[in-house]
Amino acid sequence: MKTAGNSKGTGLHRLAIRLFTLLLGVLIYWLLQFLVQDIRTIPGPDFAALEQQYLDQQQVTRLADHDQELADLTRVIENQQQKQRVVGDSSRNLQETMAQLLELQRLSLQKNLALSETDQANFSNTLNLFLENQRRYQELSQLEAETLDRRQRLAEERENLQRELDRQREPAREEFQRQRDRHRFRLACLQLAILLPLLALAAILLVRRRASIYFPLILAFGCAALVKVALVMHEYFPTRYFKYVLIGALLIAVGGLLVHFIRTIAFPKSAWLRKQYREAYERFLCPVCDYPIRSGPRRFLFWTRRTAHKVQIPAERGVQEELYTCPDCGTVLFEECPACHKVRHSLLAHCLHCGSQKPLA
Ligand SMILES: [Zn+2]
Ligand SMILES: [Zn+2]
Repeated sequence: MKTAGNSKGTGLHRLAIRLFTLLLGVLIYWLLQFLVQDIRTIPGPDFAALEQQYLDQQQVTRLADHDQELADLTRVIENQQQKQRVVGDSSRNLQETMAQLLELQRLSLQKNLALSETDQANFSNTLNLFLENQRRYQELSQLEAETLDRRQRLAEERENLQRELDRQREPAREEFQRQRDRHRFRLACLQLAILLPLLALAAILLVRRRASIYFPLILAFGCAALVKVALVMHEYFPTRYFKYVLIGALLIAVGGLLVHFIRTIAFPKSAWLRKQYREAYERFLCPVCDYPIRSGPRRFLFWTRRTAHKVQIPAERGVQEELYTCPDCGTVLFEECPACHKVRHSLLAHCLHCGSQKPLA
């Protein structure tokens, strides 16, 4: 395990790391958001197209024709009503004129005076006009009644057509609902197909690299992926399923933590530490700080964890094993065995010469 010395940095540094971790998490979340949004733009089912399949197109055309005709009729009726109003007004005027002329006649009769020729002519003219007007009024009323009747019949027909089309539209609507559900499910699967592997990768990295100095990066990545997955699942899966998924994930997480802490208390890192020490010795690296153990034939070489086994070792015979202390962290790595007085690994349990065991710190 690398402790990287005891440097934890100043308070400001630690704060900066936390802030940047948060910022990184937000940025990664955005990136995932963009990915998810692009998936969402995949077009779904088209209701208009579906409707076309399910509706009798002849009836649809007839309905449109009916609508057009009804609009025309309404315009015609308005026109007729206007004409009727004009004729009615004119009739009223004529009536008043006739009343005045009659009054004039009555006065003339009282005075035993004969009505003039002109007045007579005026009266009969007015009367004729009035009668003509009345006739036109009747005609217009008749026409309007007929048009209203036609409109009424047409409206009923249209109503029936509409009802019939609604009946045909019902299965189209059901089919659309089905297709839309399927589309949503496909979208959810696509999004999760991208997000879940990322989340799994983050989880693996979090567990494997928990000791790494770059742990905050992985943590930011993991949190962003987790939040996005949770939101996508919440959006696409019904609450009743989602709550089980959520509680299941929480159970696993909390259970895992509990097991981890119980194991830490029961087996205080010994097995894990032993594995780390063993692997470090195998690569000739200090198990504490990773600095190369430059002893014996490896004195003047350089290698890293990756290249440790590719380095050519110069043939140097008869070199004694020597005591060794890491020049970097000061940990004693090879010491004298108290039993056989030869050189043994300080951080491994048994002496490689006599096998005597020592308790490890
Ligand atoms: Zn060291
Ligand atoms: Zn020994």
